[in-house]
Amino acid sequence: MTTSTQNKPDMTTLSEPHPTLHVYNTLSKKKEPFRTVQAGKVGIYLCGPTVYDKAHIGHMVGPVIFDCIKRYLVYCGYEVNWVVNITDVDDKLINKANERGISMLEVAEENIADYDSNLAALGVDQIDHFPRATDCMDDIVRFIELLVDDGYAYASEGDVYFDVAKDTAYGKLSNRSVDSMQGEGGGTAARKRGLADFALWKSAKPEEPAWDSPWGKGRPGWHIECSAMSRKLLGETFDIHGGGLDLVFPHHENEIAQSECCHGKPMVTYWAHNGLLRRDSAAGKIGGRSERNDDPAEEAASGKMSRSEGAGGLAELIARQGGERIRFFLLRTHYRSTVLFSEPAIEEAGVGLEGFYRLFKRYERITGQSFFDLKAALNRQAGDKPVEDAKACREKFLSAMDDDFNTGGAIGELFELAKIINKYCDEADLEGEGKKEKAALAKLEQLLTTFKELAAILGLFSKPAETGDDGNELLGQTMQLVIDLRTEARASKNFATADAIRDGIGPLGIALEDRAGGTEWTGGDDGALDGIMQLLIELRQTARENKDFATSDTIRDRLKAIGVTLEDRSGGTEWSKG
Ligand SMILES: [Zn+2]
Repeated sequence: MTTSTQNKPDMTTLSEPHPTLHVYNTLSKKKEPFRTVQAGKVGIYLCGPTVYDKAHIGHMVGPVIFDCIKRYLVYCGYEVNWVVNITDVDDKLINKANERGISMLEVAEENIADYDSNLAALGVDQIDHFPRATDCMDDIVRFIELLVDDGYAYASEGDVYFDVAKDTAYGKLSNRSVDSMQGEGGGTAARKRGLADFALWKSAKPEEPAWDSPWGKGRPGWHIECSAMSRKLLGETFDIHGGGLDLVFPHHENEIAQSECCHGKPMVTYWAHNGLLRRDSAAGKIGGRSERNDDPAEEAASGKMSRSEGAGGLAELIARQGGERIRFFLLRTHYRSTVLFSEPAIEEAGVGLEGFYRLFKRYERITGQSFFDLKAALNRQAGDKPVEDAKACREKFLSAMDDDFNTGGAIGELFELAKIINKYCDEADLEGEGKKEKAALAKLEQLLTTFKELAAILGLFSKPAETGDDGNELLGQTMQLVIDLRTEARASKNFATADAIRDGIGPLGIALEDRAGGTEWTGGDDGALDGIMQLLIELRQTARENKDFATSDTIRDRLKAIGVTLEDRSGGTEWSKG
């Protein structure tokens, strides 16, 4: 029999570190070089949903980021096995089934179908296993038996509890001491030896779904499911365990306690926790940008998004916004930061996305080929041989991903690369005479191939957008206003205004082309909409100073017609989309 003093995990021998990849570890509170239990292989476990109700957008943060993490590890040459568990037996499911007069299984099936279709819409297609708790009862019971046999758990009136006092390492993930822990109170307290002890097995009340066990009929606690399922599918020690920050305590602390006491070795090398989704208090303002928060734990504690706040209706949100736009929105923030959610913020992300789609259309206009038919090597070593112009972007993209999977930084490089490609099209006159140059077209194709290689790591642009281009609408409408103001300024020889427009849009990655049928525009990077709005506010201000009230009124009225309100305040003019 093992005793509590012997449960210091042995150090597992890890592979040589990856030369560049570093991963933040909640356990050490540091970024560490990435090393694996088995050379060339990675096991990932992400705590999945308790399927008692429809998913909300908060449930997608983990799957989207880990989908990218897996894609990146595969790109780096690892063979990755990714498990997301489904909790399909739980008090909430039982209550829901009773409320609706249907079985717990029916509640689960309905919500698993909803979860699956949401994952598919957001392009999350890298998960290898979805074990369900009810399919793993034998593994769970066996795990509890081992803990009881070794003295880490005890049976009490049909329940089984983990004896926290027996685990000297308890609290190492969340940095809490046993004294400060709150145990499950209420009716179960009398059956426990210590207040911090938690249930591994709960005896069944009459009429509840129940399974046989050495302690009588009952069902498992939530924490033991994850220890049993991860062991079954990934082994006693695996590489990455993910979940939201709200799971650090007690769920992951308890998983560690169960698994490490049972096996006498580390459960996981890297604990990776994603920030939570919070409703943006400034909702309604499109121009705002989510700020990186350096203390996600504090943010998380200040209130994560829940169904009760009206965050529900993910399927409806997907129908309105499209899955790719939501994915892109989630990936713009580093995964350890809080995501500030509002629908206008998703729309703003969509504006950035549309800049990329305009580039793909431009490529199609020039070459007659579809961007979506390009074949890129999805392997870091074999990789594409990027042409000189794309080399630095590709390197910066990969170093952002190497820096604890910084998808936000990586997306910044995608914008940069799109800007470079648009500039190349302009300079080589690829929509004019330059089109005849075979070498120039080959270079364009190579640039787009590198773009595709990088976008595939983020799981973006694998197929043409499923929704109409309406996300582009506001940017398109404001750009038309800018173009009309420029045409008007040139006609009236107001060169100061024409120049102000040229200087204002350049830094936003937007280029104007005067053609026979009128002026067309291309490009537009992240933040272009807000930049255009600032430009229009300045043009209006200048017009007023020059007593050119016709122009200032035109700007105000045309913005009003497309639903944009300007408000003059002491600190300057602010815009909002009502
Ligand atoms: Zn879990």
